[in-house]
Amino acid sequence: MTALGQLLTQEPWLATGLAVVLGLLLGSFLNVVVGRLPAVALAPERADEWPGLLVRPGSHCPHCHNAIRWHHNLPLLGWLLLRGRCHDCNAAIPVRYPLLELAGGVLLGVSVHWHGPDLAALAIGLFLLALLALAAIDLEHQILPDQLVLPLLWSGLLVNAFSVLTSPQDAILGAAAGFLLLTGLRLAYRALRGIDGMGQGDAKLIAAIGAWLGLQPTMTTLLIAFVTGSLVALVLHLMRRLEHRQCLPFGPGIALGALAASLGVSLF
Ligand SMILES: [Zn+2]
Repeated sequence: MTALGQLLTQEPWLATGLAVVLGLLLGSFLNVVVGRLPAVALAPERADEWPGLLVRPGSHCPHCHNAIRWHHNLPLLGWLLLRGRCHDCNAAIPVRYPLLELAGGVLLGVSVHWHGPDLAALAIGLFLLALLALAAIDLEHQILPDQLVLPLLWSGLLVNAFSVLTSPQDAILGAAAGFLLLTGLRLAYRALRGIDGMGQGDAKLIAAIGAWLGLQPTMTTLLIAFVTGSLVALVLHLMRRLEHRQCLPFGPGIALGALAASLGVSLF
């Protein structure tokens, strides 16, 4: 074991602290993904622009287009320093920015603290950060872009080819069963009702969850996602905020279920 590895094992809070800082920085990067990927995902003719859009143009205010100074770009601190407004034009900075940064820090910190400072904990943390970005995009745009979901699916199978989180067989079972189950439900719903109740992106996302966590946690994830989705729909219906035949994004529920399953919640 390296000296750093030894230190992190002896001082779990140091490992958690480092994970929180890394999570804050990655949360800042997630804001770039969430802000720029949907435009490409919604317009196939712009597909070539991805992933170049992740680095160009540099961070700038979408309102006045002025470049953002480095110290205003620090995760969380930048937003607090600016009190949520652009330094140049005073336009409000969406609260999504500090929220994703904070969530990134919390998710990676919790993952490393919960699972112990090792590669598996870091892998789960990164998996949860990708889900966070997908949930944010689905909430805002009702899409789950292939550019993010498919690499997540394959990287889960790759990680578990070396049995990092579960056995390779369990990962394949989870991915295939999750995908086929949701695809079957989607087709059955469409056959009966004549409309789509969920998108194919949801099936691909469940396949990715299966690839990372295996069969049983995937079923837990699905159950939590269905229950939270139904509860949210019921509340919105009672508040008369739900339009007739309106589809709710399923991605955030799936992400929530996967978070619970990754922390050891098991309903089967
Ligand atoms: Zn501005």
